[in-house]
Amino acid sequence: MGRHRLLLVLVVAIALLTGCSGSITNAKEAPRATKGAMDAAQAEAASSKPIELNGEWSFYWNQLLEPEDLQVGAGQLTGYLDMPNNWNQFKRGADNLPRTGYATFVLRLNISDPEQVKGLALPVMYSNYKIWIDNQLISTSGQVGTDQASSIPQKRTNVVYFSPRSEQVQIVMQISNFHNYEGGMWEPIGYGSAEAIQSEHNWKLAEQCILLGIILLSGIYHIGLGMFYRKDASLLLFGLFCLTAAFRNTLTGEVLLTRAIPNFPWEIQMKLEYITLYVMVPLMALFIRKLFLEESSRRVTLLTVAMAAAYTLVTLIANAEIYYRLLVYYQLFVAMTLVYALFVFIWASLRKKEGAVYALVGFSFFTLTAAVDLFAFIFSSTGQVIYSVGVATFIACFAFVLSKKLASSFKMAQQLAIELAELNEGLDRKVRERTAAIAASNAKLEELNRQLQEWSMVDGLTGVSNRRHFDEYLSSQLVLSAEEGTPFTLLMIDIDFFKRYNDHYGHIQGDSILQIVVNAIQACLDPDSGGLVARYGGEEFAVILPRCGKERAKRIADEMCDSVRQLRIPHTGSEAAPFLTISIGAATAALEAEKGVKQMVQLADEHLYRAKSRGRNQVSID
Ligand code: GH3
Ligand code: MG
Ligand code: MG
Repeated sequence: MGRHRLLLVLVVAIALLTGCSGSITNAKEAPRATKGAMDAAQAEAASSKPIELNGEWSFYWNQLLEPEDLQVGAGQLTGYLDMPNNWNQFKRGADNLPRTGYATFVLRLNISDPEQVKGLALPVMYSNYKIWIDNQLISTSGQVGTDQASSIPQKRTNVVYFSPRSEQVQIVMQISNFHNYEGGMWEPIGYGSAEAIQSEHNWKLAEQCILLGIILLSGIYHIGLGMFYRKDASLLLFGLFCLTAAFRNTLTGEVLLTRAIPNFPWEIQMKLEYITLYVMVPLMALFIRKLFLEESSRRVTLLTVAMAAAYTLVTLIANAEIYYRLLVYYQLFVAMTLVYALFVFIWASLRKKEGAVYALVGFSFFTLTAAVDLFAFIFSSTGQVIYSVGVATFIACFAFVLSKKLASSFKMAQQLAIELAELNEGLDRKVRERTAAIAASNAKLEELNRQLQEWSMVDGLTGVSNRRHFDEYLSSQLVLSAEEGTPFTLLMIDIDFFKRYNDHYGHIQGDSILQIVVNAIQACLDPDSGGLVARYGGEEFAVILPRCGKERAKRIADEMCDSVRQLRIPHTGSEAAPFLTISIGAATAALEAEKGVKQMVQLADEHLYRAKSRGRNQVSID
């Protein structure tokens, strides 16, 4: 409901703006001329509105007379022509007058209050004119001539003011036509006080300018939208429609174009007036097609394009006589397309298509005003009265349809943006969670790796390096020692009679002894010099002493033997001592005799064997 009220307000506002109330004359009391004379005095005194100088004007066919000629009685009166009219409506004998030719029109006018300045509102005449009030030439349009070469057509309206000399004024008017299809005056001349004429003229101008402003702005706005948002062709089409209508507006009514450029070529101006009319039809049809694709017809749309193209072509190459004659068929075609458009809007409204109701309202209003004006024209020959209101409403309604369409696009885009932001945030959170989880499992993995590496290097029972690590360490020690030029020593340590120990005290006890022995060996190492203790296999241990020569190695090995002995672990099966003892074989890699890994181990083994064979519980070194 609210929306429809809004539309109603819009319609009323435009009606007020375009001032439809400004130009309606009271037809009942309007005086009419008879036999070339009109008494406007009473009507003029009674109303502040201009009076239309309609009725029988004296008519001089194929004579161009000036006031002086009439004063001396020159000129042959052809008859009286009911103005406004085309002269080819005038019958002379059985035949109508030809469309081309020239004539003089005279009206004697009785006026009231001759002291006052008076005015005439002169409409467009076909194709030119020259007007005198009494003996004074007051306005010309184009150039009146007696043939095509001497006659220059011009389409313009004019307002002139004059001071009457008495209560009777004589209006003498020459019109010639050699360019247009029909000759003469089609719209009435307005007469009144200067104030009345000016006021009405101002209204008309204001109305047309406001309408032009509305259509022009709408055109520019929609063309702009259409250019920056190419996806929706309806914007561009509507913009073009508006611009075409705006341009056409300057060619009709008060003919703003010739006001701005008085010498604008008449032929081009006429062609443009017709072509703009043709072009508006396919533009509207294409626009409707874009708006309501399912309800509109492709064939009708194409037909409007074809018709407009054909008519434009003919109008471009032919002269006014021809395309004026063809116009009636185009008007019929336009009427049919209007019915088609109405049908599309009704159908789209019934199917609840977005904006269809507004389109229907605007279109109906436009059609209604056009129809009202048509009837007004037929029955009282008044010009366009509320048609401009219809056009303005029409434009406003369709601009509204497009705004609605755009607004819903904006809404949708905004909604999508919000949803996307939400989605993004969710995604962000998930990514953060996943990253944290991955980091945690990475840490675990690292720890596991570290442990694995440790396990691969460490002997499980004693916690010292295993055989693998020992081999690596020994190799690198050989390289380092060669690089540094320092000696190093390898000790091979074996527990004496350990098999017997196990046999006697059991393997579990044996295991714990292995650990105790390792601790005792490690305690003998200088923590600053480093070194490596490894379980070489079974109850055999290897010790690498970096940067360690024979003497110091001997001292350390002796200390180790001593330490184990001092533990005083009872070993009844040992033949070496009553306590647990170890034997040590040592090999030193000195500078002068570089040895390989195998050689070193072999040498240390040999010395261990030597220590064993010499009675165990001792150190053998080379
Ligand atoms: P020798 O003085 O000649 O070295 O005599 P031995 O008995 O120590 O030498 P042998 O090589 O004959 O025996 C080594 C024994 O070490 C065999 C096994 O019972 C014991 N042994 C090897 N590894 C382990 C172990 O991991 N735990 C325990 N408890 N005993 C081990
Ligand atoms: Mg052994
Ligand atoms: Mg042993």
